[in-house]
This record gives sequence, C-alpha cells and structure tokens, in this order.
Amino acid sequence: MVALEADWLSTDLSTVTRDVAAEDLSAPCYLRVAVNAPLRNGFDYLPPDGRPARDVPLGSRVRVPIGRRTAIGIVIGHATQSAVDPAAIKPVHEVLDGRPLLDAQLLRLLHWTADYYHHPLGEVLAAALPKSLKEGAPATAQIAIWQITPAGAAALESGACGRAQAQAALLTLLATHPQGMSGAQIARLLSGWRAPARALLPRGWVATAVVEASEAAVPGREVPGHPAGPAQSDVSSAPALSPPQAEAVAAVAASAGRYECLVLRGATGSGKTEVYLRAAAAVIERGGSVLMLVPEIALTPQLVERVSRRLPADIAVLHSGVGDAERLAAWRRARAGRARIVLGTRSAVFAPLTDLQLIIVDEEHDGSYKQYDGGCRYSGRDVAVIRAHQLDIPVLLGSATPSFETLHNARAGRYRELLLPRREDQAPAPQLVLVDLRSHTPRQGLAAPVTQAIRRHLGAGGQVIVFINRRGYAPTLLCTACGWVAPCPDCDARLTVHQGESQLSCHHCGHRRPLPDACPRCGFRVKPVGQGTERVEQTLRELFPAETLTRLDRDTATGAADLERIVDSVQTGAARILVGTQMVTKGHHFPGVTLVVVLNADQGLFSVDFRSAERLAQTIVQVAGRAGREQQRGEVLIQTEYPDHPLLQSLLSGGYEAFATTAMAEREAAGWPPYSRLAVLRASSAASDGAMRFLAAVRQQAPADPAGHGRVRVLGPAPALLARRAGRYYAQLLIESAERAALHRFIDDWQPQIEKLARLHRVRYALDVDPLDVQ
Ligand code: ADP
Ligand code: ZN
Repeated sequence: MVALEADWLSTDLSTVTRDVAAEDLSAPCYLRVAVNAPLRNGFDYLPPDGRPARDVPLGSRVRVPIGRRTAIGIVIGHATQSAVDPAAIKPVHEVLDGRPLLDAQLLRLLHWTADYYHHPLGEVLAAALPKSLKEGAPATAQIAIWQITPAGAAALESGACGRAQAQAALLTLLATHPQGMSGAQIARLLSGWRAPARALLPRGWVATAVVEASEAAVPGREVPGHPAGPAQSDVSSAPALSPPQAEAVAAVAASAGRYECLVLRGATGSGKTEVYLRAAAAVIERGGSVLMLVPEIALTPQLVERVSRRLPADIAVLHSGVGDAERLAAWRRARAGRARIVLGTRSAVFAPLTDLQLIIVDEEHDGSYKQYDGGCRYSGRDVAVIRAHQLDIPVLLGSATPSFETLHNARAGRYRELLLPRREDQAPAPQLVLVDLRSHTPRQGLAAPVTQAIRRHLGAGGQVIVFINRRGYAPTLLCTACGWVAPCPDCDARLTVHQGESQLSCHHCGHRRPLPDACPRCGFRVKPVGQGTERVEQTLRELFPAETLTRLDRDTATGAADLERIVDSVQTGAARILVGTQMVTKGHHFPGVTLVVVLNADQGLFSVDFRSAERLAQTIVQVAGRAGREQQRGEVLIQTEYPDHPLLQSLLSGGYEAFATTAMAEREAAGWPPYSRLAVLRASSAASDGAMRFLAAVRQQAPADPAGHGRVRVLGPAPALLARRAGRYYAQLLIESAERAALHRFIDDWQPQIEKLARLHRVRYALDVDPLDVQ
C-alpha cells in the first residue's frame, strides 16, 4: 500500500513546473532557440544585425543555421552566457514574427508539457503548431488588396480616364479607400471591376499589395462546410434546462475567473452537451472564448453543426481530418480573437485563444486523449486541466464513466462532481443481464438467449447493437490437421482473417497477404477460428435475412464520410442491426436502439493490463447508454463464462459507481495508478536482445535513491507483451513511485544516462508518463 501525499495539482505544479523564461537581469546577448528535433536543450544564437537580444521576444520564430542547413525554431530564452564557445555562436538569419507566434501563456503551458512528459521542448512546440507555421507561413492571414497610386489619383482628377467609365468608377471607389480594398470588398460595390483593374494596372494607376488581413477585411467564416455565422445561430432553439442542468451551468458560472475542475457526470443523453453549450454561451456573452475538446471519433459533423447552431460565435474546428490550410486558418482565427470557440481533438488543447475563460473536455475518460504513438506522449485531458490551472479558469470534464484518475481526484475533494440524473423524457436506465456461456454454448459466437432477444426486440420495432471488440472475420486461421496457425512474419501475432477481401492481415503492423485455401505446411484444409465483426455480421445476416444490417469498425468506416453514413443509417432507422467495435460506443445518439449485446466481455476481465477492467466497464456502460427509448426500458446482454466475477457482479448490482469502487480497491491494493505514479520506458531494436540489453544497462545506471527521490521503484526490464512488432523487438522498464514529484526528479536525474546509452546501443526509446497501459 502506498501513501498518498501527492496531489495531482498543487504538489505537481510547484515541483514540476520550472520557472519559465527566467530572465537574467544583466543584458542578455544570446537567443536560446528550440528547434523541432529530439534535443533536450535549445541552441544559442546571436540576434540578427547586432540588435539587442530582448528585441526578439520569447515565442518568436527565427530562421537559424544548423550545421549546413537552416531550420525554423522558436525563441525560448534570452541568455547572458552560453555553454558554447562564443566565437562559434552564429547569428539567426531572420526573425519571422513581429509579434511572438506563441504568447507567454501558451509558452508556459508548452514548457510544462515538455517538463512533465520529459520530452524535448522543440518537439512539443512543433506538435502544437500547424505544419505551415512550422514552415514559416505568416502568423496572420494575408490578403491581396488594390490601392490607387498617386499617378492614378492625378489621372482621376485630370479626367485622364476619358470615356473608360468602368475605370473611372474603380479609381473613384479606390480613392475613397486609401488604405486599399480586397477584391471581395470591391466586388460588393462594383460589379465587373476586374477588367478595368487589369487595364489600370500596367498604366501604374492602381497597385496591388499583400497585407495582414484585419478583422474587417476578412468577414465571416473561413472554414468551408460550416457556414452558420453569428447571424444564423439560433440560441432560441435551446430547451429549458432541467433543475440539475441549471445547477451545473450555475456551478460553472460561479467558478468564472478562478481555477476549478468540475466533473459533469451523466449517462449518455442526460444532457451534458446541453450544459456545455449553455456554459459556453455565457462565456461568449461575456466576451471570453471557450476551448472544447472531444475524442476523435465524436467529432462528427452533427456536433459541429449543433455547436455552431447554438452559439453566437465563430468556431474554429481542429481535428485530424482538417487539412493543413484549414488548420492554419482556424489557428489564425483563434489567435486573432475572431474564433471564440475552438472545437477540437487532443492537440487542440494547445490552440491559441484570446481571453480563454472556459475549457470543456467531453468524454474525459476516452483513451484517445492520450498521445501514444510517437512524439510527446501527453494526455490532452490532463494538459487541459493544467492549462485551466495556469490561467485560473474553470475546466469542465464530462463523462458517463469517469476515469479512475478523475474519480479519485473527485473523491479526494480536488475536483467537484456535478451529477446529471437521467432526464425525465429519457428511458429508464437499461437492464444489464449476464448470459452464462457455460450453460448456453454459443453458436457462431452467439448464445441462444442472445439470438432470441435480438428477435424479440426487432419484432417489437426496436433496433439492436451487437458489440464485439475485434474487427475482421476471425482472429485466427488454423489448420485442422497439423495445428498450423497463420503467423505474422514480422510480429509475435496471429494474422486476422478478412474474408470479404480474401486477405490475412496483421492488426499490429499492417502486413497483408492473400488468404490461403490450404495449410502451407501440410496442405490440409484451413479454417477461421473465433469471431470478429465481419463474421458476426455474416451470422446475423443469415439469422435475420429480412433485416437491414450495418457494420461500424475501422474497415467499414475509413473516413468521416463513411462514419457519418453508417451513423445516419442507424439514427434514421434504415439499419435495424448495428455490429461494431469500440466505435459504436462513442458519443452517437441512437434513439431507436432497445437492445445492446456485448459478445466478448471476458477479454477485459483477465487481461494483464491494469486498466482493462476499467475499460471494459466503461465500454459496457457507454454502449448500454444507447439502449432504451421513450418509456421503454432497454436491455443489455453480456455474454460471459464468468458470471460470478466480482467486477461483473458489482457492475450489475450497483452500476459504474459500484464497479469503480470495487475495481479501485483492487488497484489500490496492487499499487497501480491512481494510487501510484507510473512511467514506462519503452525501447525497441532491430536485434532480438537489443532493447532488453539497453534497458538492463539503463537500469544499472539508475540514480541511487537518496532522500530526495523518495521511494521510486524500477521494475524490469521485461519484454513487451507483444515482444516482436513489425520486425522490431520491444521491451520496457516500469518506473513507479507513490510521489509524483519524486518520480519526476528521478527521471530528470536519469535522463542523461538514458540518452547516452540509447546512442550507444542504437535503440529507439520513448518515455511514457502516466501510461494508459503497461503491456
Ligand atoms: P449528452 O451530452 O449527455 O449525451 P445531450 O445534451 O446531447 O446529452 O442531450 C441528449 C438529447 O436530449 C439532445 O437531443 C438534447 O437536445 C436533449 N436535451 C438535453 N437537455 C434537455 C432539456 N433540458 N430539455 C429537453 N431536451 C433536452
Ligand atoms: Zn505484424
């Protein structure tokens, strides 16, 4: 059992946040510049043209020489001294920004992120910026304008235009706008202006220029596809709030202007989004701006549409589907203070906002808030809480199934819970029923009571969701004679059968090959074993040939358009049965669904991963939240071979709350987060024992454990659960402590050794602070 002195915020901020931009009072002469590279420290440069270093403010972009190439970096410090020989310090080539690209508040947040996740600042800064800004695009939107020249003015006065009336009209118009006009502005007042403009240009009577777009010069929205502007927003379409909703909105309003973390708990459909919209509207009315984060999958056009319909403000949308040009435009509008709402996924937590007054994190428990593949492995939710703390503003975390971290913080009094009961016009909470697979042998993955229930609900006009957390046809291809199992050549994994495409595919590295007819070893017949979404879909088609069926997984929904089409078909009732993976559990409203079936719950009960039970319960409750309509109570069937399992039992008897209490007690007993602080050092190498050898050496060089470090334990190294992936070998070390500050000091002291050994051993490694899993 571990003691619990570490406070997620108060302790952490004081110990982990370093003094940002601590400036020496003697006149600094160097610029410390972070570039997008895996380097701990910035490089030092001289300011350009012998200017004082302070002339180039922190957060400005500069073009700098690095070896033989040049790069764009960001000024992160002014230094009086350098570790480098002064004679070798070069001047920056160019300062790109007049006003710093990143303001002091954002810089502070990015510094915190780099420190807390022990990641090079240059890479963190780069991750926060749209690609074109990293490549040097101007920080503000530029527009082309037309201006009258002195020669043009003279010509107009002397009547030199003669009978060319269109030209005279254009000159007259431009003469009244000496600061210049954009093409769009001219077109509004003067149709057919382009031909005279083209004629006047070679005569030198008009000129064009590119200037920074001012607010007036760029009216309306720039994001195509979201045309609703302030004028069209329909605030009156808001429903009257229920008393608990009104209380929640009031609580957010009451914390205006100070940090508070509010946890909005309510089942799907209980009206959380309604609370977000009201709380956001109040901020916008005060002239502030709002950052709203959602998990990737929930950012469907419906949500964007709902927000823009209801809020009288310009919205900037940032997610992975947004192209770079749009991303840049959204970033600029937010920074210029035009977009008062930024709606986006994980990385939008770094969006520049003017006068940010409220942060909302929807579905805060969702794993997609954590960056896990490459780069700085930050949690968008946690960075959001820190940003709110730094700015002294409220942050609202919403979920039907809060993460254990958040529950723990709420129970410890650090976060405040706001509860939304089910709405009166909403169906009662669905009934959870376990289907015992020991007494009901499944056929093609479905136990008889499940098939019967599906038939019953379809007969009564309901819709059905069948959830199975595995895509493809079957997870294994097996030879029935010699026992051969189709392996991935590059991973310690089996290949998944994709029947429709006649392919075998590795879900870890993407390896694909044609589906063989016979065993490559003995030539006998092969058969797919186990269930995936594709196979369940086929089985259900055979069982219910008259019903329309759709499937939602990463194979059927490869883009936003597919996702929208599939979700639509369920919402409109065109599809009566939906088979899908995790994707069906996220944020969609399916009002006609009365039955949800969870096919493979047992996986989550016995995984080696400490978080798997939490994930299982979240999935079941989230997917169960889709069941039931009007006054008709929904039903959720969970197939399991372990109906007596204490976690399933607590979920059944007391819902997520009871489940969480049971599961959190287990975590506490085992010393897992949130009852301990964890980091994983993952390494991979091309040689089979390279990663293990590197980690063993790293462990040897671990700092001794003087008083300052508190109790920090290093566990491992151990091969990863899937030790070979895409031809590389993975292993990991676990670093654990009861105290967050101790863990961070320990890693700080260790890091130089880790870096040195990584170069020596030629391995890749990544440090994951607060990992979502430790597989
Ligand atoms: P959640 O975000 O918790 O899933 P929503 O805010 O999306 O819930 O609400 C679900 C549905 O109920 C939406 O159609 C919403 O318009 C409606 N709704 C929410 N609050 C109210 C209310 N107070 N009165 C009437 N309808 C409401
Ligand atoms: Zn593979």
